Parts: sequence; structure tokens; C-alpha cells
Amino acid sequence: MADDKPLVIIGGGLAGSLAALCLAQRQPDMPLLLLEAGETFGGNHTWSFFDSDVPSATRDIVESLEPVRWARHRVRFPLRERMFESAYNAIGAPALDRLVRTRLPAGSWRLDTAVATIAPDHVVLRSGERIAARGVIDARGPDGPMPGLELGWQKFVGIEFAAQAPEPDCATVMDATIPQCDGYRFVYVLPMAADRVLVEDTYYSSSATLDVDAISNRVRVLGAERGLSGPEMRQESGVLPILIGGDPDRFWPESDPIPRLGLRAGVFHATTGYSFGLALQTAAALAERNGAFDSASLASWTRDRFTQHWRQMRFFRVLNRMLFHAAAPDERYKVFEHFYRLPIDLVLRFYAGTPTLSDRMRILSGRPPVPIGAAVASLLRG
Ligand SMILES: Cc1cc2nc3c(=O)[nH]c(=O)nc-3n(C[C@H](O)[C@H](O)[C@H](O)COP(=O)(O)OP(=O)(O)OC[C@H]3O[C@@H](n4cnc5c(N)ncnc54)[C@H](O)[C@@H]3O)c2cc1C
Repeated sequence: MADDKPLVIIGGGLAGSLAALCLAQRQPDMPLLLLEAGETFGGNHTWSFFDSDVPSATRDIVESLEPVRWARHRVRFPLRERMFESAYNAIGAPALDRLVRTRLPAGSWRLDTAVATIAPDHVVLRSGERIAARGVIDARGPDGPMPGLELGWQKFVGIEFAAQAPEPDCATVMDATIPQCDGYRFVYVLPMAADRVLVEDTYYSSSATLDVDAISNRVRVLGAERGLSGPEMRQESGVLPILIGGDPDRFWPESDPIPRLGLRAGVFHATTGYSFGLALQTAAALAERNGAFDSASLASWTRDRFTQHWRQMRFFRVLNRMLFHAAAPDERYKVFEHFYRLPIDLVLRFYAGTPTLSDRMRILSGRPPVPIGAAVASLLRG
């Protein structure tokens, strides 16, 4: 019977795992199967977010992921330093792995299970096994360059040191008082516990190439300069897409019969490449929808959400063009330095992807931090 077939989610990373958790909670009678190629759910990530990124319907799930929470956060630039009495949080991938294993019913998840072929009503595993499905969702994350999209990159290497955190209740989300190279460069410092600190060297770069060995040496230097050079507990790296422009229909043709989630669905914050809050929003909406869970219904529903997200990100694409096209690479930091003159409520709406019209006008007001002619050209191309 069709109803016995599971909804198959391919990829137990951030988006796939959160969707499965919400579905298990709100649609407990629907059979589900989460397939992950790796040995754990969530990979090797630390996901950071502001309270305002979390939709209320998913607060219980986020609490169960036991976030590390800092009461304050700070930014530093050559000409501006600000401390905000506003919380910042981070969740490590092991917490997501634990929650998926404990919350999803036995038999509804599999690790070490790579999918080779995807069709609307079945998948074929690399092992050759065929699994029939009521619907199939592709949440395999990005797969190399995203077709049709013009992208810049936010890339980084982070090392977690066993070291005493100088300010355990404060996260430094951007410290750009370091030598600039390969675009906008800043150091990110998260005290994950009283005796463990994550230090990341981050670049807003036009190139996706990341020399992990060379950058990890720079992280060690940045850590040592801050008195954080204890034993290394773990390392992570990322090359996140920053959306500058492109053709949404080429990225996701309407004829594609397979529903998508997460980065595979182009649902990320255009200016940060982050997707934690957006993945929560989609997971909650998916689990609460009244429609059917076959591939055709879900393909049109997930693509509609992407189209709506694309429209919402228009303002951010304009800003990104200013950042990548109008500012000289070693002066890109000035765009963020200028932005951080604004009140914290506006900053939080910006990161949640929900700036109001008045926020947008305030962000663009004042003397632009980049050459005026190039700034106007970026705006006109919007
Ligand atoms: C190191 C790092 C740190 C980040 N930090 C933040 C942050 O602080 N805040 C934030 O909001 N965003 C952050 N991001 C960006 C973004 O949130 C993540 O990239 C997020 O994990 C994307 O979610 P996703 O589910 O789309 O993809 P992924 O989490 O990458 O998940 C895709 C999953 O699919 C699996 N898979 C792939 N192919 C197959 C297959 N054939 N069969 C089965 N499974 C398959 C992969 O193994 C993977 O687990 C970070 C990214 C990285 C890389």
C-alpha cells in the first residue's frame, strides 16, 4: 500500500535532520526514512545563530540541541568597536547526531548509506538496494558549483583549542583588526566552554579555493596572539556561497521532479551563507503543511519556497554586489564597519533575513563606504 512507503530524505546534514525531527514530532504516523552517507548526522560543523533566527515552533528542538549561549557579542573594526548585550548561540554537530538517534523511531534512519540514484518514487543505494518511497526529498547539501548562480564565498578554517576563555560570556563574531588579505578577513572567537575556545580565520573572497593547511597555521598565530594556544581539540572548515546574482530558473528548473531542502534548495542567507534559522523555518513549515507528501506535491512546495526566498534575498544580492564588485578586496571590511553603526535590532533583523523597508533605507543611507560610482552601479543592477 502507498501509505506504508516512507517519505525518504536523502542527506542527514542540517536541513535533512531538522526536517526529519520536525516531521517525527508533528506527523508521527507517517513513515519516514532519513538516509545519510556519513558515519554521523550533521557532519563536522558548529552552527551559530542569534535568538531571533529561531522560529517559535522549533524552540523546543533547539533547546534539546543544548546550545552554548553567550549573553553578549562583540564586533571590532579599525575604526569601530561595539559590544552588544544581545545573546549569541552555537550548536555542535554531535548534539544534532544524538538528537536524531534518540528522537527518530528505530528503522527510520540509516547511516553509512549513500544514495546513488534518485527518482520521485524510489531511491537506489550505492549498495544496489532499491527503496520504494511515497516521496523523495533531496537534502544532499551543495554539490560543487551551483548552476546558474553568481557567487562569492565566505570561507574559513577554525580550530578549537583547549585554553582558558578570557571572557566566557562573550562571543566575538567579527574582529577585523587583523591584516586584510583575500577579501574581507576577520577572526571569529567562540568560547565553547570555560576551557575550550574556537578560533576561526574567515575570508569574504571571490575565490572558492581554501588552502586548509596554510589557513590553519594562520589560525594558530591568531590564537597565540590572543593567548589561546593550548592543545587542539578539533578543526573545521567551510566554503559557504554568498549570492551575488544569477538565474533562479537555471539553478532549479521548474521541470525538476525532485523536492529539495537546505543548500541544495538554494535556501541560505545570501550575505552570510548561513542557513540554521532558514532550515528550522522550512522544517517547521514542512511538518505543519496539510498537503500530501508525494514528490510532485513537495517539489512544487519546496520550489515555491525557494522562489519566495530568492525574492526576499534581492536586497542582500544588491549589498553583495557592493561588497564584491564596488569595494576593493582589502577595503571590503569598510562595508561591514559602516553597517555596524546601526542599532542592534536592525542588525538582528538583517541576519534573520527580515529587514524592514526602513531598515533597508537606513543600511543604504549615509556616505557609502565604497566609491560612489561603483556603489550606484551595484544598486542599478539590482
Ligand atoms: C564548517 C561549517 C560551519 C558552518 N557554520 C554555520 C553557522 O555557524 N551558522 C549557520 O547558520 N550556518 C553555518 N554553516 C552553513 C550551513 O548552515 C551549513 O553548510 C549547513 O550544514 C547546510 O545544511 P544542508 O543540510 O543543506 O547541508 P549539509 O549539512 O552539508 O548536509 C548534507 C548531507 O548530505 C549527505 N549526503 C551527500 N550526498 C549524499 C548521498 N549521495 N547519500 C546520502 N547522503 C548524502 C552529506 O554527507 C551531508 O551530511 C556552516 C557550514 C560549514 C561547512
